[in-house]
Amino acid sequence: MLDKFMTREATQADQGGSFAVRNPSTGEIVAHVPNATEDMLNAAVAAANEAFPAWSATPDAERKEICRRIVAALGEHSEELARLITLEQGKPLNGLGSRWEVGGAQAWAAHTAELDVPVKVLQQDDGGYVTLERRPLGVVGSITPWNFPLMIAIWHIMPALRTGNTVVLKPSPNTPLATLRMVEVLNTLLPAGVLNVVTGDDREVNLGALMSAHPGIRKIVFTGSCATGQKVMQSAAQTMKRLTLELGGNDAGIVLPDADPQAIAEGLFWGAFINNGQTCAAMKRLYVHDSIHDAVCEALVAYARNIPVGDGLDEASVLGPVQNQMQFDKLRRLVEDATRTGTVLLGGTPGEGLFFPPTIISGLKNGDALVDEEQFGPALPVIRYSDIEQAIADANALETGLGGSIWSSDPAAARALAARLECGSVWINKHGMIQPNAPFGGRKQSGMGVEFGEEGLLEYTDIQVIFS
Ligand code: NAD
Repeated sequence: MLDKFMTREATQADQGGSFAVRNPSTGEIVAHVPNATEDMLNAAVAAANEAFPAWSATPDAERKEICRRIVAALGEHSEELARLITLEQGKPLNGLGSRWEVGGAQAWAAHTAELDVPVKVLQQDDGGYVTLERRPLGVVGSITPWNFPLMIAIWHIMPALRTGNTVVLKPSPNTPLATLRMVEVLNTLLPAGVLNVVTGDDREVNLGALMSAHPGIRKIVFTGSCATGQKVMQSAAQTMKRLTLELGGNDAGIVLPDADPQAIAEGLFWGAFINNGQTCAAMKRLYVHDSIHDAVCEALVAYARNIPVGDGLDEASVLGPVQNQMQFDKLRRLVEDATRTGTVLLGGTPGEGLFFPPTIISGLKNGDALVDEEQFGPALPVIRYSDIEQAIADANALETGLGGSIWSSDPAAARALAARLECGSVWINKHGMIQPNAPFGGRKQSGMGVEFGEEGLLEYTDIQVIFS
């Protein structure tokens, strides 16, 4: 399948030429994909608009059945898709890597396929019959990042399709391959024009920016950085697009004095280092009570020290490389800065190519760059606290508000503190767990709207009230 993307024929027909996709583990070019022009984007939007009337009028049961077939197709192609994710993203096939990502995509697709759009009767009496109904929006533009390329694409397109919208999907230039293959597979099940994909390298033509302003697109669902999300919102204003924005996070974990360091070490590690820390809702700052600070650091480092880092295609690897040079350089800068005042407990020195070992640095505080900025990589700052009020204030001090966690031997007491964290999800004795029936989204500048569950589904509809 990669051969197809490598051939010149695949791209020559496309006016914009092609761009290279590299394997972050080796730096090698693994494929060339089309670099779409504005005309090509316009053609995709036109195709989606043409397909919309028939798709939105398709009986709901029929659309549901097609969504179920999508779930099955993801399963049939799971190994092929996982390998593509590993090749382009770098994450290992195993563990919480690409096979897990495809499994997640399937689970979300399966849940979404079974969701129904409710009709609410607001009044039914002699005075009248009033119903609150939901209508699809039209063409949904989906813009995805490079950290979970396939799963996030599924999060966007399944609720859009389920509710009768058509889609133009644009993956990150860093990770277009699994998305392209998935769309190819899904298009054997969907009517022509319902699901379209465009790829571009964001250099001369920024497809995401064009989509955000495009008059033929009714909604943008965007997952990516806060800075780009702000641009999307600005461009979308002119056409009053519906928006779902899932943006960056800088999640805090707070360890209370009664936590058991040995019991929480594994959970803390994966909360922070899942997908090499390149996860929107990873734990990116860890506040530990003074009385157990050293014991927690010791247990965490002991666990982290044994994690095999290597080429994602090696079945023994548990963590892979950082996905791209820009991200790597940012991480290196933040770690270098942190080593000036903090104590490096593990890692700290970049490896070969894009490899960066799991890094844990203590002795930091709010105001340090590694604490305040979203590192989006395998480096965790540890902050010592003695007063829980200060820890909560520090956790809430930033403008991000995606997730947060509290670690304690008394889950009820921890739950009582949850409401005080200014974020969309709070986990007790775990971090970053999401599930298809639980709405997920950010507070403050971490986003707008939610994904998943009925609340997420309804974001792909407009309300229509009918009075008789
Ligand atoms: P990014 O913002 O650089 O890019 C995201 C997407 O936006 C890409 O497809 C890119 O091509 C496109 N894009 C670039 N310029 C654009 C523009 N002007 N208008 C519209 N689209 C444009 O983000 P990234 O580096 O790919 O991903 C990392 C970020 O994503 C992190 O901040 C992370 O926290 C965030 N993220 C958030 C979630 C969440 O659910 N909240 C999930 C995953 C990642």
